[in-house]
Amino acid sequence: MAAPRIASQIETPPLAARLRERIAHEGPISVADYMQACLADPEAGYYTARAPIGRDGDFITAPEVSQTFGELLGLWAAFIWQAMGAPKPMVVAELGPGRGTLMADALRAWRRVPGLLEGTQIALIETSPVLRDMQRETLRNTPIPLRWFARAEDLPDGPLIVLANEFLDALPISQLVWREGAWRERCVRLDAKGAFVFTEGAAADPIPEIEATEGDILELRPAADNLLAALAARAAKGDPVAVLFVDYGHEQTAFGDTLQAVRNHRFADPLTSPGEADITSHIDFAGLKRTAEANGLNAFGPMPQGEFLLKLGLEARRDRLVERATPAQREAILSGTARLVDPRAMGVLFKALVVQSRGFAPPPPFDEI
Ligand code: SAH
Repeated sequence: MAAPRIASQIETPPLAARLRERIAHEGPISVADYMQACLADPEAGYYTARAPIGRDGDFITAPEVSQTFGELLGLWAAFIWQAMGAPKPMVVAELGPGRGTLMADALRAWRRVPGLLEGTQIALIETSPVLRDMQRETLRNTPIPLRWFARAEDLPDGPLIVLANEFLDALPISQLVWREGAWRERCVRLDAKGAFVFTEGAAADPIPEIEATEGDILELRPAADNLLAALAARAAKGDPVAVLFVDYGHEQTAFGDTLQAVRNHRFADPLTSPGEADITSHIDFAGLKRTAEANGLNAFGPMPQGEFLLKLGLEARRDRLVERATPAQREAILSGTARLVDPRAMGVLFKALVVQSRGFAPPPPFDEI
């Protein structure tokens, strides 16, 4: 007997079908709108509907590779808290906490720092309901209250320390193409067969005052810019702010298309299956730093992830763990920590950038002479 069709008739059509319809009606949509739909569509966005991180997911991240990552970031935050004068109350936030692993590992470090958890509120900035559930489960034994927010702008007032691993790369970007002496918005349209293809739309507004050569692509990151502006506004009110971004990207600003899709641990075409692959871009660390400084914040780095973790004491922590490990655990600890720092793995492509309120000493490990 054929399965009843009623249920599927009231379901929302798949994202690809809805995007086709939208483009057929409205014309080409910008890369930013396409990326926003693919990642955050309320029904079918990649992060709305899936649990993508980990060995069974599409990609794996540093906290999933080794517990030392979250522990060292936790120690970093504890140091910053002390440098701020051990304020209470205070907010420790994570942007895009994934499965909650980094936060769980950081909490293990914080429990050993007297006074830190008293008067601290932990805030998790997460849009995905699926990942919020996972985070709640991972963090169920946390000794202090946890609160979830959709946006960093909604965080409670007070001194703030933020950790953000692989968060910025998941925010929508817009792309401009230099064509015949003008910057044009890069868009997505349909070809004769109904496939999604890139195209160029109207002239950009406002027009960046940068000259380029024919076909160059300039990436803009309005979502990251807004985040920095919101953090800077808190700092300007007098609440100290320190943020540690770890992400993949380049040190210098350069033209080029860095949009990429990953599905099942493999690169995929960002246009073939909207909502089914993770779409990200590379971070322009120099640009991020310029924006932070233009907003009145201090920025330190970027420093390659390997160097950053080694300077924070990765080897000592690794050796402590190895002492207490079974032979199988020992292998996992050694290979995991090596992967975090190896230049051929995550050690160099990934970088750390700290953004903080003016008037504070350089944070570790940028405080070395
Ligand atoms: N930091 C985690 C996960 C990285 S994946 C790790 O290292 O494993 C990106 C994370 O950011 C996911 O949790 C995703 O749901 C979340 N995210 C993506 N866009 C977001 C947005 N605009 N606002 C809040 N969270 C977002």
